[in-house]
Amino acid sequence: MTQQTASDYGQSWPGLVYLPISYYFDATVRHQLGMEDAHGYFKVVGPHEVAHQWWGHLVGFNSYRDQWMSEGFSDMAAALFLQYIYAQHGLDDYHRFWADQRQLLLKRNEEGKRPIDVGPVTLGTRLSNARSGFDAYQCLVYPKGAYILQMVRFMLRQPSGDPDARFKALMHEFTRSFANRAASTEDFKAMLEKYMTAEMDLEQNHKMDWFFAEYVYGTEYPSYKFRHSFSKDRDGDTVLNFTLTQANVSKRFVMLVPIYVDMGHGQVLRVGSARMAGNATLQQQVVLKELKGKPRRAVAAYYDDVLGSFDNK
Ligand SMILES: [Zn+2]
Repeated sequence: MTQQTASDYGQSWPGLVYLPISYYFDATVRHQLGMEDAHGYFKVVGPHEVAHQWWGHLVGFNSYRDQWMSEGFSDMAAALFLQYIYAQHGLDDYHRFWADQRQLLLKRNEEGKRPIDVGPVTLGTRLSNARSGFDAYQCLVYPKGAYILQMVRFMLRQPSGDPDARFKALMHEFTRSFANRAASTEDFKAMLEKYMTAEMDLEQNHKMDWFFAEYVYGTEYPSYKFRHSFSKDRDGDTVLNFTLTQANVSKRFVMLVPIYVDMGHGQVLRVGSARMAGNATLQQQVVLKELKGKPRRAVAAYYDDVLGSFDNK
């Protein structure tokens, strides 16, 4: 790893990573030079460029339509780094990273466009032009590509043992199968279909068509409203009562929205996933059998594991 004179981007080569020279300055020097740490840039540029050793170099991309995997997977890897390495303040840096990604997708540019609306990630660099804004590629493909892999990771989450075991197995096989080759979006989808769980099979055809149509080939951005309370049942078990509303989507839009209970002290348990279809409200009661202690709150998509706007109360 070494520095390059460019101060606002890094670059990854096989076996060699260039970091911007500004990365080597401390926060005081950067401030004196008028460089603000926009979107936690200095925390993620290192892991992002290292991740390109796999995504982009070991596994290439077939065409501009598949480049979102190189940038998106590398950005998602940077979030993993935040989750495990910048963990002094719990998940603060991790949550901030994902909030920044949503902001990038929703902020109107000088052309008045929100990157999320400009087109699907598979349009690659063609997203940027005089009408959509020349920043459309950067502001869409990186954050949304990262979110797509993030959602895959959390859909594959295991209830016991290493929660990421299935996700890791998918990524290992994908890497092995396409080492020193170019992978396409459909190659990744086929590999995911090998590892998908029964819960993910929303169309009962053992395909991930629904997810790819919505987030990879589509431009939808759902809004969710989650309201909840706790009560006790006759056996003294805690009951979670909640309503979840999905809005701003097309009729065919389906989604699994994971629901968590926060027990405090960083202990967050997954209760299950709410299956949402179209613009609708789901009302449900879940008995939390053998739950020890009193939950502080319940949260939908606590791990920023669904791309959309969340109003949690
Ligand atoms: Zn990159």
